[in-house]
Amino acid sequence: MTSLPKPIYARVTLIGLGLIASSMAHAMRANGLAGEIVGYAKTPTTRATAQKLGFCDRVCDTAAEAVAGADLIVLAVPVGAMAEIAAGIAPHLAQGATVTDVGSVKQAVIAAVGPLLGPGVAFVPAHPLAGTEHSGPTSGFATLFQNRWCLLTPTEQSTPEATLRLRSLWEGMGAKVQEMDPAHHDLVLAVVSHTPHLIAYTMVGVADHLEQVSNSEVIQYSASGFRDFTRIAASDPTMWRDVFLTNKDATLEVLGRFTEELFALQRAIRMGDGDQLHAYFTRTREIRRGIIDAGQDTSVPDFGRVHAPVAPKA
Ligand code: NAP
Repeated sequence: MTSLPKPIYARVTLIGLGLIASSMAHAMRANGLAGEIVGYAKTPTTRATAQKLGFCDRVCDTAAEAVAGADLIVLAVPVGAMAEIAAGIAPHLAQGATVTDVGSVKQAVIAAVGPLLGPGVAFVPAHPLAGTEHSGPTSGFATLFQNRWCLLTPTEQSTPEATLRLRSLWEGMGAKVQEMDPAHHDLVLAVVSHTPHLIAYTMVGVADHLEQVSNSEVIQYSASGFRDFTRIAASDPTMWRDVFLTNKDATLEVLGRFTEELFALQRAIRMGDGDQLHAYFTRTREIRRGIIDAGQDTSVPDFGRVHAPVAPKA
C-alpha cells in the first residue's frame, strides 16, 4: 500500500462519462484524491446529464479543452474508441501529464494509444475489475472499486513515478492494485470475464430462440440460474462488441477449450457416465470454494441477494 499526499493529482480529466468514469469521479471526490475533476463525453446529452449530476467540477464541450492543463487523463470510453480519442487529445496534453485508460482489453489499447502519445507524456494502462450491468453517467457510485482489483499493465511509456502515482489513486479509491503483463492480462480476462459473458449472451439467445419455451415461462422460472445469465447478458452492447473484437486471440483460445470440455460433458450425459459428471462437478465446486475463501464472493445462499418482494406486473 502506497500513500502519497492528497490530492494525488491537481487536475484529473475523465474522457467518457459512463459507469466507470462517474464512479471514479464519485470515489475521487469522496476521498479527496483530485483537486479538480474535468469531464468530456461524446454526446451533448451525456455531458448535460453529467453537468446536472455534478460529479465533475467542469464539463467541457471538446476533448481538447478538457485535457488542457490536466495531470491525469483517464480514457474511459469503449475500447474501440480509444485510438480516435488519443489522436484528438495528443497535441493538447501538458508536458509531464499521465494518460491512463480503464479498458477491459490491454494489448489492443496499448498498440492503438501508445504510438499516438508524444515524449514527455507517460502512459500507464489500467483495468479495474469492477462493474455492473448498468452503463451511463447515472449508474456510477463511489464504492464501486472498494476491495476490487485494479490491474496495471505498465509499458516502456510508463515511468516508475507515473505508475506509483496511479497505483496510489486506485488504492485511494479502495482498490487492490496488481501489476501484470498485458498479454497475460488479456488471457486471464478471457477466462474470468470475456468468455463467461459470451456464454451468457449465447444462453440467453438460445432461450430466446427455443420456440417451445414461451417468453412468459422464461421469465417466470428465471430464478433457476438463468436469471444470472440474463443479468450478465444485459451488459452494454458497444463495450462488449469491442472487447471481443480486440481480445480476439485469447477469447478464441479459451472458447476452443470450453467447446472441448462441453463436448466431453455432452458425451458423458449421452453415455450415462455419472462418475465423470460427479467428478467434474466436484472439481468445479472446489473452485467456487476457493473464490469465497479469496473474498471475491459471499457464501450466503443465492449469491447474497436480498429478496425484496417483487410486485406483480399489472
Ligand atoms: P459506459 O457507461 O457505456 O460509458 C461510456 C462512455 O464513453 C460514455 O460516456 C460515452 O459518451 C463515452 N464515449 C463513447 N465513445 C466516445 C467517443 N468517441 N468520444 C468521447 N466519449 C465517448 O461505459 P463504461 O462501462 O464506463 O466502460 C468504459 C470503459 O471501461 C470501457 O473501455 C470498458 O471496457 C471499461 N470497463 C468497463 C467495465 C464494466 O463493467 N462496465 C469494467 C471495467 C472496465 P456518450 O454517452 O456521450 O456516448
